[in-house]
Amino acid sequence: MKAVFVDKWNNEYVPNRTEWKPEEGVFRMKPYPVDFPIKKIKERQASMWRYQEALPFEKADTYASITLGEGMTPLVPLDADHPNLFMKMDYLMPTGSFKDRGAAVLIAKAKELGVSSVIADSSGNAGTAIAAYSARAGMNCRIYVPASTSEKKLAQIEAHGAYIHKIPGSREDTAQAAKNAVENENLYYASHVYNPFFYEGTKTFAFEIWEQLGEKVPDSLILPVGNGTLLLGAYIGFQNLKEAGVTNRLPRIIGVQSESCAPIAEAFISGESVSPVENKGTLAEGIAIADPMRGEEIIEAVKDTRGTIVTAPEGDIKAARQELAGKGFYVEPTTAATYAAYQKYEAEIVHPDETIVMVLCGTGLKK
Ligand SMILES: *Cc1c(COP(=O)(O)O)cnc(C)c1O
Repeated sequence: MKAVFVDKWNNEYVPNRTEWKPEEGVFRMKPYPVDFPIKKIKERQASMWRYQEALPFEKADTYASITLGEGMTPLVPLDADHPNLFMKMDYLMPTGSFKDRGAAVLIAKAKELGVSSVIADSSGNAGTAIAAYSARAGMNCRIYVPASTSEKKLAQIEAHGAYIHKIPGSREDTAQAAKNAVENENLYYASHVYNPFFYEGTKTFAFEIWEQLGEKVPDSLILPVGNGTLLLGAYIGFQNLKEAGVTNRLPRIIGVQSESCAPIAEAFISGESVSPVENKGTLAEGIAIADPMRGEEIIEAVKDTRGTIVTAPEGDIKAARQELAGKGFYVEPTTAATYAAYQKYEAEIVHPDETIVMVLCGTGLKK
């Protein structure tokens, strides 16, 4: 199908554009028909690419030279005492986080569009994922990071051959530097925040859960939310499943923010629009986004599913990480924060008998 971007006024754009004007807000994909032919899907390789009738490519095999086999990560119960609480193990992705879903689709689509150089900004996992898939696609890649980014994450980006620009100041300063370069040099903006193809990748998260639960959607879905690349992807994915008629409902989406940086949770509670906050410092740095570009879109999505947004108790993150490791899951602190929030709010946000899926987003090996 022909992929088309739309802005907030529904104006259409060709998807190879590289300029991003703030007054247009952030682009979305124009909805297109999707299909889930389950018999055909099951005959294909166990990866996120088996849902090809719901992906925005002109040719079904665009991904073939780029894939690292990403997707179809395990879905297992937390432990024997929690048979209905499933962990979706996206920390087992090729570069160690769910960002591979978005990066693989975005880069495969960029290749289909004939792009040869990409640029992105990220404090870590998104940059790593874009760097890895650009390398695989034979594209030049430049990644803008805050100067404070951890050495291990930088080493991983560099190992994939990307050029790193370290920007002093805040995460927002880094994003601005990348946008300036995009505008001045006319490079393809492979942004996990702005580029809708990233969300066309993260939506496969929903498809896999649906298939792994025996073609059913869970009652509740608990996931971290900073920029919302997984939350919005999951929402789009479950909507796709509903539109295609393979389910008649959406799971309640429960987003977890850091209590030290919670602009979306605050707006959700106050009913006012999302405004930037000060990041007071948190172990959960993967969700510490002080000025989320898609904040309103995230709140709309959560409300549409009758979900909610909670904050992770900072003082419980270390213990939560230890507890998950004690069950065999070695994850990074941001992922442990999701579990810490679940433990604190369990009685308020879920029913003990319902089917709950929580995501384990990032590997503990990086941090
Ligand atoms: C990116 C990331 C998050 C947060 O995702 P958003 O898109 O910012 O909502 C959480 N955990 C890990 C491991 C990540 O890489």
